[in-house]
Amino acid sequence: MKLPFILAKRFVAGEALTEAVPKVRELNRMGIAASLDLLGENVTDRFTADATLIEYVNLLNEIRQQGLESNISIKITMMGLDIDRSYAKDNLFRLLDVARANQQFVRIDMEGSSYTQATIDLLKEAHAVYTGHVGTVIQAYLKRSVTDIRDLSELGADIRLCKGAYKEKPDIAHTTMGEIRQSYQRLAKILLEKTRFPRFATHDDQLINWVKTYTSQQNIRPDRFEFQMLYGLRQKTCEALVQDRYKVRVYVPYGTMWFPYFSRRLRERKENVFFVLAAMFRK
Ligand SMILES: Cc1cc2nc3c(=O)[nH]c(=O)nc-3n(C[C@H](O)[C@H](O)[C@H](O)COP(=O)(O)OP(=O)(O)OC[C@H]3O[C@@H](n4cnc5c(N)ncnc54)[C@H](O)[C@@H]3O)c2cc1C
Repeated sequence: MKLPFILAKRFVAGEALTEAVPKVRELNRMGIAASLDLLGENVTDRFTADATLIEYVNLLNEIRQQGLESNISIKITMMGLDIDRSYAKDNLFRLLDVARANQQFVRIDMEGSSYTQATIDLLKEAHAVYTGHVGTVIQAYLKRSVTDIRDLSELGADIRLCKGAYKEKPDIAHTTMGEIRQSYQRLAKILLEKTRFPRFATHDDQLINWVKTYTSQQNIRPDRFEFQMLYGLRQKTCEALVQDRYKVRVYVPYGTMWFPYFSRRLRERKENVFFVLAAMFRK
């Protein structure tokens, strides 16, 4: 059954790029950069993966033509990782050819733990060829992340740090909020020490305030890293951070395949369910 888009409206900028573009423009006007994400994941046929590559390329070109302050976030499973690794790599490299030619940046989102190693391996290969045009994400809830972040920091990779949004087993993942926050702080310190421009993705005031305090104690300037938030969440916090001269980027998802992304947002925070109900009953 096709669910009505009104459910997702709070978290998704539109079903088409034309609807997302004005929202990115509005963010840019407020001094906030964006990362546009064409929603979808786990493509299992080459026809769809090929079509996705074309859509990603069009997205990069559209961003350039419209002069938007935005990079893109992609899912490697949309490029065919479940079909064949070398096929997914070819698709990724074809996309990065365009990003490099246009002076743009592509971030490979991190998916569930069954893809962590493959994503990191592909990122390393891509980073070696397209340095400055590709990066990935590390999830603080995974116990392996401290090793991964050290490894990727040594290479000078561009990393977004988040808590992690997938359901993972306790043998591989921290499961309490206290442990996850502690891990986030430990990984953030490594990124701040070893990398040029870390990206801190969180809506959590405890972590946001910790980053602000820690960087100030270490004499790290607010323009040497970035806060990232999701579209539809914490708009006022984003604006306040910009006022305080921090760099802010908002992740702007769009597209018709919004259901998995939408359900992760609902699972993450009960208040998000109220936002959806309110949107349904608002005139
Ligand atoms: C830009 C961006 C990119 C991401 N990319 C990925 C990715 O590639 N892979 C992945 O697995 N996950 C990704 N995530 C999701 C991430 O892993 C978390 O699941 C998600 O951000 C929730 O964790 P949190 O730290 O934001 O806050 P939570 O852990 O959900 O909340 C902690 C506390 O923060 C406060 N808080 C949270 N949200 C709000 C709100 N809207 N308003 C007021 N207070 C709030 C509350 O006090 C809450 O108790 C991304 C997140 C962002 C922001």
